[in-house]
Amino acid sequence: MSVTGLCQICEAATARYTCGRCGRVVCGDHWNDAGGACTACLQGHQQ
Ligand SMILES: [Zn+2]
Ligand SMILES: [Zn+2]
Repeated sequence: MSVTGLCQICEAATARYTCGRCGRVVCGDHWNDAGGACTACLQGHQQ
């Protein structure tokens, strides 16, 4: 499945990944491949 739309963090770049933790779709700049989650999840644990 392809992700369409804008990154839900910066809302400026095309989203390419879907975070399995928060469900956000994010761009490459806001995806942490090593962490397997978006940067928002890795920086602040909001749950
Ligand atoms: Zn972004
Ligand atoms: Zn996330």
